[in-house]
Amino acid sequence: MSEISPWLAAPYETLLRWQANNRLPQSAILLGGWEAHCIHELIGAFLKHAFCQTQNACGQCQSCQWVNSVQHPDWLIVQGTGKLGDIGVEQVREVVPLLQSQPTHAPFRLICIADAHRMTESAANALLKVLEEPPNRTYWFLVTETPSRLLATIRSRCVTLDCRGDNDTIEGWLSAQTNVDKSVCRLALDLSGTPTKALALLTADTRFQLVIDNFVVLDSQKSLDWLDELMGRYGSEFCLSAMALGLRRYADRITNEQLDVLTRLWWHFSTKIQITEGERARQLLHELWIRWQTELAKP
Ligand SMILES: [Zn+2]
Repeated sequence: MSEISPWLAAPYETLLRWQANNRLPQSAILLGGWEAHCIHELIGAFLKHAFCQTQNACGQCQSCQWVNSVQHPDWLIVQGTGKLGDIGVEQVREVVPLLQSQPTHAPFRLICIADAHRMTESAANALLKVLEEPPNRTYWFLVTETPSRLLATIRSRCVTLDCRGDNDTIEGWLSAQTNVDKSVCRLALDLSGTPTKALALLTADTRFQLVIDNFVVLDSQKSLDWLDELMGRYGSEFCLSAMALGLRRYADRITNEQLDVLTRLWWHFSTKIQITEGERARQLLHELWIRWQTELAKP
């Protein structure tokens, strides 16, 4: 239990309770990103509990070791392949013959579909067929951040468990991990949307906090270099968000008139940047930045 991320504690308890009461739903949507919210970690912790040969999540027995190394014969993970990460119909069909047999080492079989919204239409239809006649002792976890992209007929068969956690818990965790002020962690979370991406941003880009804190104070060339680097790493829309959030934090240090002008400039450029990319987007970002600097330099 101690190793589980704090925002997963509540869904973890729910899974344990469902299992203890024999109420594990045949199919469930786990709301969150497979990697981005560490849902794989949540499921691993749950299965160690459910599959352990000593019924104690001991971490030592064969079952626990299999779960740890994601090799338990009764735990299947269907994941997207290829450039687009799509989950094809063959991948769903591969699972079907297994369903004829009973689970081999555990009290039940669990099949996880990671980022389930990536199923192609035919994959989704194949899954629906299986869910319509669910085999005994087999459970399905569909992990996705965007359940609206699943077939409505699949959604209606699933119980939803929200595993995304509340922002306050996540910000506290980020702050403890990075020793960075909670308000900056909030900004990173706003920008990147998920705990693991925010952590990557806070640890990979050591200048992140510096730049946010000294938003417009840094000299121009350094700021432009930083923008280029951020753009190369995260894209132009990310830079626009970073600038908007930076401006919001900077707002109490400038006059209302300046804030108004800077905000209007941001809107003006952001509509242009959103319909372009590459070098042109980079130029527009630079132009916006320089226009901001010019406005702020006015007496
Ligand atoms: Zn064990």
